[in-house]
Amino acid sequence: MSRFINKKFQELEAYTPGEQPTDMKYIKLNTNESPFPPSQSVLKAISAEEVSKLNLYPDPTGNSLKDALAGLYGVERKNVFISNGSDDILNFFFMAFCNDDEHPVKFPSISYGFYKVYAELYGVKYKTVDLANDFSINIEDYFGNDANVVIANPNAPTGIALSRADVEEIVKANPDRVVLIDEAYVDFGAESSVALTKKYDNLLVVCTYSKSRSMAGARLGFAIGNEGLIADLEKIKYSTNPYNINRLTMLAGIAAIEDNEYYVNNCKTVAENREYTQNKLVELGFEVTPSKANFIFAKSERIDGEELYLKLKARGILVRHFTANAICQYNRITVGTREQMDKLLDVTADILNEKENSK
Ligand SMILES: *Cc1c(COP(=O)(O)O)cnc(C)c1O
Repeated sequence: MSRFINKKFQELEAYTPGEQPTDMKYIKLNTNESPFPPSQSVLKAISAEEVSKLNLYPDPTGNSLKDALAGLYGVERKNVFISNGSDDILNFFFMAFCNDDEHPVKFPSISYGFYKVYAELYGVKYKTVDLANDFSINIEDYFGNDANVVIANPNAPTGIALSRADVEEIVKANPDRVVLIDEAYVDFGAESSVALTKKYDNLLVVCTYSKSRSMAGARLGFAIGNEGLIADLEKIKYSTNPYNINRLTMLAGIAAIEDNEYYVNNCKTVAENREYTQNKLVELGFEVTPSKANFIFAKSERIDGEELYLKLKARGILVRHFTANAICQYNRITVGTREQMDKLLDVTADILNEKENSK
């Protein structure tokens, strides 16, 4: 830290992304990327001709991409906001709607780590709400109409989802607050709340191309909501970075919608692989949460969470381990291809056997 940093950021603890090591080739099951490449339409859209236009700024309105998304989700252009990854939207949400006194925010104590970072970045008053013992969210904890609400649905890193009816209860109970539902993982088997945005002016649904649409490297997210909320986000965007989506990502985003069926099928495959892997892990003595996401959250009495993480890493398999007390016995394992999952299961079984035979 230099002596020049703004005093209010001196104590700020930044978000820690999942590791992306380059020392060897790993089976990467630690950042919930898709194991599948983008669709053919995306590969074709990024032509040499388009690359040669990179001397020009992208369209700051992003209307062609907004129209494609609006068509897919059955809403209008004015209900769609697009951004440089959905983290960008979370950032704008905290900037636009939360502050330190009359607009606090609450979110689950076990959830996506970035919510807390943004709250602290902007000096927002925030409250974290504990999950039940089984890691489920008790919706009544969010009924107060006394704070904005941020919930990942399915939640991370537990994978547990609320129903659309549950989300609606939360939205209805907070008529004077903004409820943000982060649907980063919704395409793997949970119910989307996008349809509710037509009925409620205080619901913002945030989505991303990073997980179900195989484009984590392109950085593209979007939000769907009432036109007033979207206009507020646009105001922040035009006050920070009007060209927040580059030309190639914009084209890739439109092209991906054309091949929607490819992505729907990939999500189905991932969901099948999730069920398969969970069942096998249970046979090995693991406990898993009922995940609707593209990851598994698992622990076993047979091995300490961190020990399993380190031993898998030593054998070329990366999973995500969190150190917070409530979840340090668990690992979050991204669901990959069937081959990757079989490898994970084989190596895990080996690790457990070796551990028990050496006693
Ligand atoms: C991955 C993830 C995001 C961020 O996605 P990007 O679009 O890549 O910025 C947001 N929320 C949750 C819960 C996530 O897991």
